Amino acid sequence: MPELPEVETVVRDLRPLLVGRAIVGATVRWKRTIATPDARKFAREIRAHKIAAITRRGKFLIFRLRGRGAQLNIPTTRYLLVHLRMTGGFHLDPRAASRDKHMHVCLQLDDGYELRFRDTRKFGRMWLVDDPEQVIAKLGPEPLEISTREFHARIAKRRGNLKPLLLDQTFLAGIGNIYADESLWYARLHPLHQTEMLTRAERGRLYRAIRQVLTRAIAVGGTSIDVMYKRVNGASGGFTNSLRAFDQEERPCRRCGTPIQKIVVGQRGTHFCPTCQPRRRPRTAGG
Ligand SMILES: [Zn+2]
Repeated sequence: MPELPEVETVVRDLRPLLVGRAIVGATVRWKRTIATPDARKFAREIRAHKIAAITRRGKFLIFRLRGRGAQLNIPTTRYLLVHLRMTGGFHLDPRAASRDKHMHVCLQLDDGYELRFRDTRKFGRMWLVDDPEQVIAKLGPEPLEISTREFHARIAKRRGNLKPLLLDQTFLAGIGNIYADESLWYARLHPLHQTEMLTRAERGRLYRAIRQVLTRAIAVGGTSIDVMYKRVNGASGGFTNSLRAFDQEERPCRRCGTPIQKIVVGQRGTHFCPTCQPRRRPRTAGG
């Protein structure tokens, strides 16, 4: 499933191809991909816009669209938000090229190309809104923008196991199963470690690990597991061979040689090294 580095990669891939292009038509082939407004309204309203910018927030892509005609009774600036979920991805093909059955939303551009949203599992969603906050207001800060001080302050307010905390998009935006496991491996913290028991040094280690892992993954175009994620040009992400914990079950830990273990935490497969990331016993009451 695409996480922050994969979505960032898609944004960077799309930006030079799409910014400045006008959307001249839209075809919605699977209505449920459009979360808001309804599919007909979406197709009618999006086509009067030029793509002014493409950014990312958490795991959302945000297309800033500028209205092309004052005679059209719609706001001048609108936003297309896209969440890729499990299998969503973009293709940019000549309009005449045949579409496959998984291309559910197609935007015709003014240069003869078509931006096609392909999504085999159909969990991906799009929103056409006046203000991105209508969709992303609850997201926590960006892990690569938050300061050390702010990170310490936020994590001090949290309780419970570390792994679910890292997956909680209201804590930090953009981390999913892959980068949660990788960050905990680098920070040498057990996925079931109690957040409230972290020492200041451990919080600092976690902060640095998260940033290091995400930065490295972005630099090589993200991680491709089970061909769920592909770059816009069809290439795989380069981080797959750099994984240390995620998807490494039974393989020797790169620090100590102990086989990586897989457990289930909050219904998510969770990978860690039992030697480098030992589980500490909770303190006894009063102890
Ligand atoms: Zn180890």
